[in-house]
Amino acid sequence: MSQYQNHEKVIIIGSGPSGYTAAIYASRAGLKPLMFAGLQPGGQLMITTEVDNYPGYPDGVMGPDMMDNFRKQAERFGTRIKYEMIVSCDLQSTPKRLVDGAGTEYYADSIIISTGADAKWLGLPSEETFMNRGASACAVCDGYFFRGKEVAVVGAGDTAAEEATYLAKLCPVVHLLVRRDEMRASKFMQERVKNTPNIKIHWFTETLELMGGDKLEKIRVVNTQTKEESEIAVSGFFVAIGHKPNTEIFKGQLEMDETGYLITKADSTHTNLEGVFAAGDAQDKTYRQAVTAAGTGCMAALDAERWLAAQGLH
Ligand code: NDP
Repeated sequence: MSQYQNHEKVIIIGSGPSGYTAAIYASRAGLKPLMFAGLQPGGQLMITTEVDNYPGYPDGVMGPDMMDNFRKQAERFGTRIKYEMIVSCDLQSTPKRLVDGAGTEYYADSIIISTGADAKWLGLPSEETFMNRGASACAVCDGYFFRGKEVAVVGAGDTAAEEATYLAKLCPVVHLLVRRDEMRASKFMQERVKNTPNIKIHWFTETLELMGGDKLEKIRVVNTQTKEESEIAVSGFFVAIGHKPNTEIFKGQLEMDETGYLITKADSTHTNLEGVFAAGDAQDKTYRQAVTAAGTGCMAALDAERWLAAQGLH
């Protein structure tokens, strides 16, 4: 019997594909994991439409439906889910101590971190001014509000290409603002963008300011070659320039790279701290796919189980 209340063998932080897969494996191993699902249960796939590249779905699947299935599968084997954030932690103590958003303390012999990553913003003050009034980081979530209106998308990766083609179905013109003279997106996605007649690509273009009254009306942009500034009338401004890992609360305790991605030991999910494992986008800046996140979630659960057994804790 533990001297602590709320003492778990495994706590999983985060509920994307990696968290749920860790939960499925850990619960099937009899570890009775407790999962903190956070504020966006299901992670980034909840704001995606169709997922066509996850094996096992020959006709594709909607991201939220897939995550719902992941959750049900984890719960079938006894995973308990709390829809709370973990706001602070002491990972060096034994057992490890976590505090949730309601101030409740939890203790765990092992922790699996699968907190994922969030969209990045340009950092313009006017971007904040127009947040929820024209500026968005998710076309799938907010695109509907801009149907029939002109919009801009910033970025040149797969996310930007996907958002632009999604918006092109709702909006008469989509201005794609690319800061260089080429896109980083996959060839396939680039072709799709270039073959969509109502996507207008602006090369060498950076955004200076979002402008308007109550709502966004236009943006001021600059051509970085000619230094010429101009305005584009848009009602929506979608930022699609990549992601930032959700690892702030682990700073100073876990090893991470300069951009905040957690560092795991080679061929494993072990972090620098015993009993703390990391999976999914919080530790992967290379692949960032649902299927790779799920794969590392499985690895984390197996690593945790073996580590607990070696400590005589399972
Ligand atoms: P990426 O990091 O791949 O691309 C970010 C893009 O944003 C780059 O083109 C970059 O420009 C641009 N950018 C960065 N900062 C700024 C800035 N301040 N101003 C203007 N532009 C900026 O991120 P993604 O989110 O697109 O993709 C991440 C990963 O997820 C990739 O591996 C991608 O393949 C994958 N993905 C796969 C999808 C799929 O298979 N369906 C869908 C979406 C993503 P520059 O090129 O000049 O650096």
